[in-house]
Amino acid sequence: QADRDLLLSHVRDIPDWPQPGVTFKDITPLLRDPAGFATTVRLLSEAAVGHDVTSVVGIEARGFILGAPVAYHLDAGFVPVRKEGKLPAETSSASYALEYGQATIEVHRDAFMPGERVLIIDDVLATGGTVRATVDLVRAAGAEVVAVSVLMELGFLRGREKLADVPVSALLSL
Ligand code: IMP
Repeated sequence: QADRDLLLSHVRDIPDWPQPGVTFKDITPLLRDPAGFATTVRLLSEAAVGHDVTSVVGIEARGFILGAPVAYHLDAGFVPVRKEGKLPAETSSASYALEYGQATIEVHRDAFMPGERVLIIDDVLATGGTVRATVDLVRAAGAEVVAVSVLMELGFLRGREKLADVPVSALLSL
């Protein structure tokens, strides 16, 4: 509970960003706080306990900031899932619906060795479309998704309902 309060005290609401009616959860105050950042990385890593994780996937862009130190902490490798057109080698891609329009994310086709066990990290689980597409991408690339760990879940958007086939843990549920 003390950890949770620490995290919560460093996340701020930005009203009407990126568009009117949306309240954006800004985690930059948490990242710049040494205790807050360390606690976040430690707690995100706990989702890996007992899963023998070999690879951590971070979703662009805040998932990179959190996923890379989690990978280091777990002695695992780090694999970036990026927005379309950013990765230089051959990629697999997955598209999903946004509130308006659609988004495409990609991963390198050779990102995983056979039998690799993956922990997916992101900052915020909102509608769940991003993590859903990432789970599908990792599986299509031949790896096993053993868990998803996010800093924050926006429960009212019901993202978890799209992720019934994978364990999802959130440090904060709002
Ligand atoms: P979803 O696909 O609707 O679950 O949206 C999740 C993606 O959008 C994640 O990669 C988040 O980084 C980003 N996102 C959505 N809402 C917020 C927010 O309030 N704060 C920070 N990131 C957000």
